[in-house]
Amino acid sequence: MARLTARKRHFAAAAVSVLALAATIPGCVAMATEDSGTGEHTRDAAKAAHDTSPSPSLSPSASPSAPERVSAEITHESDTPGKAVNLTIDDGPQPIWTQKVLDVLKKYGAKATFCIIGSQAKEYPDLVRKVVAAGHRLCDHSVDHNTEMDKRSDSYQQQQILDARKEIQDAAGPDAKVLYYRAPGGAFTPYSREVAASHGMRPLGWNVDTRDWTNPGTQKILDTAEHELHEGPTVLFHDGGGNRSQTVAALDQFLPWLKSQGYVFGYPKI
Ligand SMILES: [Zn+2]
Repeated sequence: MARLTARKRHFAAAAVSVLALAATIPGCVAMATEDSGTGEHTRDAAKAAHDTSPSPSLSPSASPSAPERVSAEITHESDTPGKAVNLTIDDGPQPIWTQKVLDVLKKYGAKATFCIIGSQAKEYPDLVRKVVAAGHRLCDHSVDHNTEMDKRSDSYQQQQILDARKEIQDAAGPDAKVLYYRAPGGAFTPYSREVAASHGMRPLGWNVDTRDWTNPGTQKILDTAEHELHEGPTVLFHDGGGNRSQTVAALDQFLPWLKSQGYVFGYPKI
């Protein structure tokens, strides 16, 4: 029950935080400037005003296998030129829906980036390995999916990001790479982006929120995905957080539609 409550908060927060992300998307500046007080820019300013203490060390461990630092800017672009779509699948793994999403991706030869909740990776490691085995990419989506983690201490944010990374890595195996970090509900902070980037994980935004998590109906999810694709290539779906049958059904129509329109599947640019 507590989880459901937390999730409802997440979705309310997500609606707001998409504006924060929009602030980083060219063409969405007008929309973002209407967002007074909730965007990351505002959060940044507020944080900078009071937070004068040095940040905890952001250096990756001294291990020779520590990943190289990447940009801390939120990425939305595709690494694939031309008409490309970056499918992103959030909030799993989940025993029923992750498998069904994997099946529909395989049906159309589509690749995706899975933003994985650390605690669920720990619970369902086999599913994380299936995601990797199918050639999809991994994204850290924090340990607990606290959509208000941007209001918490630096040490809390660091723990949520790095513990999740370890849980996902432990589940996926040593050869897999966790290449991105997406804050739950888009609740990024400059600090959390820096933690992720310094550990080789590019902060990951989105351009199109299909709002599949509201279960608006398969057709509505499909319409949103198709009509908002002009916003940019990175599209957000979910395999966790509830019954995702509408998501699976929508993907089963969206993926062949994309192919019929000449789109190819890419990954977010690192
Ligand atoms: Zn999420």
